[in-house]
Amino acid sequence: MPPLKKRTSAFSACNSLTNQLKCHLTDMFKKILIANRGEIARRVIRTAHHLGISTVAVYSEADRHAKYVAEASEACFIGPPPATESYLSIDKIISAALSTGAEAVHPGYGFLSENADFAEACEKAGIVFIGPSAEVIRKMGSKESAKAIMAASDVPVVPGTDDDSDDAKLKAAADNIGLPVLIKAVAGGGGRGMRLVTELEEFESALTSARREAASAFGNDKVLLEKYIEQPRHLEVQIFGDKHGNVIHAFERDCSTQRRYQKVIEEAPAAELSEAQRTHLHEAAVKAGKAVGYVGAGTVEFVMDRDGNIYFIEMNTRLQVEHPVTEAITGQDLVHWQFIAASGGHLPAQTSISQSGHAIELRLCAEDPANGFAPSTGEISALDFPAENDFIRVDTGVTQGASISPFYDSMFAKLIVKGNDRKDAIARTIAALNEVNLGGLNTNANFLRNILQHPRFVACDFDTHFVDDAQTELSDEPALSDAEKLLSALAVFEYDNSATTGNSPWSTEIGFRPNLPYSAEITVIHRDEPVTAVVRTDLDNKHVRHVEIADQRAVVEILQSNHDTLIVDTNGNNHRAKLHQTADQLFLFGASRTVVLRKPSVDLGGESEGGSGKLMAPMPGAILEVYVEPGQEVNAGTPLLLMEAMKIEHTISAPFDGTVTEVRFNPGDQVNAEGVQLVVMEAAESS
Ligand code: ADP
Repeated sequence: MPPLKKRTSAFSACNSLTNQLKCHLTDMFKKILIANRGEIARRVIRTAHHLGISTVAVYSEADRHAKYVAEASEACFIGPPPATESYLSIDKIISAALSTGAEAVHPGYGFLSENADFAEACEKAGIVFIGPSAEVIRKMGSKESAKAIMAASDVPVVPGTDDDSDDAKLKAAADNIGLPVLIKAVAGGGGRGMRLVTELEEFESALTSARREAASAFGNDKVLLEKYIEQPRHLEVQIFGDKHGNVIHAFERDCSTQRRYQKVIEEAPAAELSEAQRTHLHEAAVKAGKAVGYVGAGTVEFVMDRDGNIYFIEMNTRLQVEHPVTEAITGQDLVHWQFIAASGGHLPAQTSISQSGHAIELRLCAEDPANGFAPSTGEISALDFPAENDFIRVDTGVTQGASISPFYDSMFAKLIVKGNDRKDAIARTIAALNEVNLGGLNTNANFLRNILQHPRFVACDFDTHFVDDAQTELSDEPALSDAEKLLSALAVFEYDNSATTGNSPWSTEIGFRPNLPYSAEITVIHRDEPVTAVVRTDLDNKHVRHVEIADQRAVVEILQSNHDTLIVDTNGNNHRAKLHQTADQLFLFGASRTVVLRKPSVDLGGESEGGSGKLMAPMPGAILEVYVEPGQEVNAGTPLLLMEAMKIEHTISAPFDGTVTEVRFNPGDQVNAEGVQLVVMEAAESS
């Protein structure tokens, strides 16, 4: 890739701003508490420590070993994993701030960040809330009053009504506004409590379900009605206010790439806007901020229709998940600006803020797009990110070995990439995404890559429905290619071949035999489709394998094979993948996608009857190999014999430490029934 013409780093932001605004550092806080977790807590810690501010992390039981907890200057335990008993507990967070002597609280985003009662509780406890006042949160945090304020400042708002006193009147209003309409929870967020109504007959049931969802998610079932702007783009402006009446903007972002009203990919600046449209957006946002005496970070959100008309939809009174794309194009540090605003400093002048290039943020989540976006929880057993540099930034709260718990959201990282222009940024983002390798869980990496490569995304011919419209295509996991089949069979074969412990997680457990050809049948399952390959070593060349898949045969040279990389050559074609194997899965991180393969779901251990040491066949089959002989001492897990049943190889391993007393079969023997005793063992004295 060509080097960036202008190397403005998202990471040099702190340095440049610190120099520009040095005079304010002395007035800033000495210690802050971060009422959040994960990557946002780390993000805030980074700027705070850079400025010499000490940090207090708070953590629930589920986050005891999280990276942000270790990185903070000190940490306070605040309770069990459910957020309502920890990160959403105002009392616990206030007492953590008081007991640690934190002067201010940074709420991050989500959790209590837009909770006016929390801001008020901070004020009452004499702690600075790093954000707007409780009064401003109440005014702008509610879609209803924010729209009224914007309308009064001559900022165009989506036509609608906020009088929800009578359901029949609401229905009449919907008819009046003209269908389609959106029913929105006044207190809503994340697309919850929102229903689209296209037919008047659906109105009552949509209203009931919107109210029900809003009541359970936000404790408030009040709704408003809005004209539904068809095929809109979601545009938003980053604004900041200080306590001296200055309100500035840091340009706009385009967050049209959404799934079910939730952002998936964000960009800055918004592509293909005229200068007049841009100026209109920025001015409207600043006007909104000035109208309420806004202090701190805020985002003013708009939808733009196909004709370029722009309407205000809501304001978020906090830092956004997607703030890094703004940092990338402006070279500014928005968390530093938050500290300046909250501590009474002066924000930089509007004229000193400029932008260059184009930045894209991907929200990387542990979920399975091909399976209805089901969350994927559990241990991250392997994790690689691209190296950070002037155009790649990775914001993450997790490390290898960490777990994605079911208690919090599934986002495990944000990848932010900057390019000279949008085309360059897309190319660089795809390249960077190809270096994100997470093993152990499913992720949306392929889905995001498919979006980035989709002709509509590339051509900027999209609206907020693009992802939902193209969802089947975007979340499709095509069957394994020939190269992927070859790589996965060889990955299993080579892994087993080189396994020194004799504890291969896969069914083709073999030891390396330097002077004998060895053949194994390997089955991997991709999206319920089994793929079977027969792999054979070569007598003359220890680097050569003969592979048979269905009716195709290949002679393959292993160029490189270790536990995390496989490079092979077949007929002059080079195939490569990074690998990760767990007890029951193989992750193949290829050049253009990640493939998750399952091993056949069989019990590899055989069955030990009541711990008596009699090892039984799990099903009828043939004995392929016998690894032990009578009198041999073995440890729990040592492979005893290999049998084939239902075209799948099963390793029968020792269930405990002990001595093999009898081996009842030889290689080549048939086992005719399930439950036949294969081996007899005597347990070691201590087991
Ligand atoms: P939430 O607070 O739940 O995120 P928003 O009001 O921000 O709700 O809307 C979320 C998304 O829903 C927007 O980004 C946009 O895609 C869509 N949306 C909201 N209002 C409208 C509207 N009036 N017409 C069309 N789409 C809308």
